[in-house]
Amino acid sequence: MPRPIDAIIFDLDGTVYLGEDALPGAVEAIAELRRRGKRTLFVSNKPLSPRAVYAAKLTRLGIPTNEREVITSAYVLGRHLASSAPHLRLYVIGEESLRAELRGFGLTVVDELMGQNHQEVINPTGIDAVVVALDRTLDYRKLNTAYQALKAGAHFFATNPDSTCPMPGGDIPDAGATIAALEHLTGRRVDLLAGKPSPLTVQVAVAELGVEPSRCLMVGDRLDTDIRMGREAGMMTAVVLSGVSSRADAERMTEPPDWIIDNLEGLLALEM
Ligand SMILES: [Mg+2]
Repeated sequence: MPRPIDAIIFDLDGTVYLGEDALPGAVEAIAELRRRGKRTLFVSNKPLSPRAVYAAKLTRLGIPTNEREVITSAYVLGRHLASSAPHLRLYVIGEESLRAELRGFGLTVVDELMGQNHQEVINPTGIDAVVVALDRTLDYRKLNTAYQALKAGAHFFATNPDSTCPMPGGDIPDAGATIAALEHLTGRRVDLLAGKPSPLTVQVAVAELGVEPSRCLMVGDRLDTDIRMGREAGMMTAVVLSGVSSRADAERMTEPPDWIIDNLEGLLALEM
């Protein structure tokens, strides 16, 4: 049964925009939903830019957004570690924006060793936790450093589980591929995932919105992250067919989303 909805949480890639273009109906639909009093929040698993950059992009596309209305997996991880384990020394397989985000939360990021020898490894005893994220500069040395640290007992954290990341021009390997490599190497499983479908993302989203999960609607194009997270959190869910999922994929699920819409304009006709 449809429930009254006070807040809508939107995935970004494949839901609101693709590359540098807003998807059809997105700008108009979000403006109208806000006019109807719905609070909005945008959630991305990409840890490649600070929240302000995503907010600026949405604003540029015609969806005025401030930084507080955007959550990234990097932000969720930083916020979680700052409150639960602020003293860990982190070795980051990730890009500069992630390191800056974590340092911004007062966390300690172990610096890269700038040696010429590519097999050189930071002393794994100086690493309390390995953080894995999308890293377009990933190399053997980083993989080996993470491997040695994990073998020595470091915690194993990751920003997001996605195996690939959509980019203009085609998708590229994402954190999930590196997580799989390290899991294979160590025989361990990742200890903590921050981004969708993690409950950590739900916690941060709900805290930012100040709205109970039962009064939230999660909208996204991925069934295994966006829709799964919303459902497990007790939110209403809507899959949008503008991204990676088809109607058949959605209908085939044991517990299909509450709504299947072609694009975000479909939200305007829903009873909520
Ligand atoms: Mg998406």
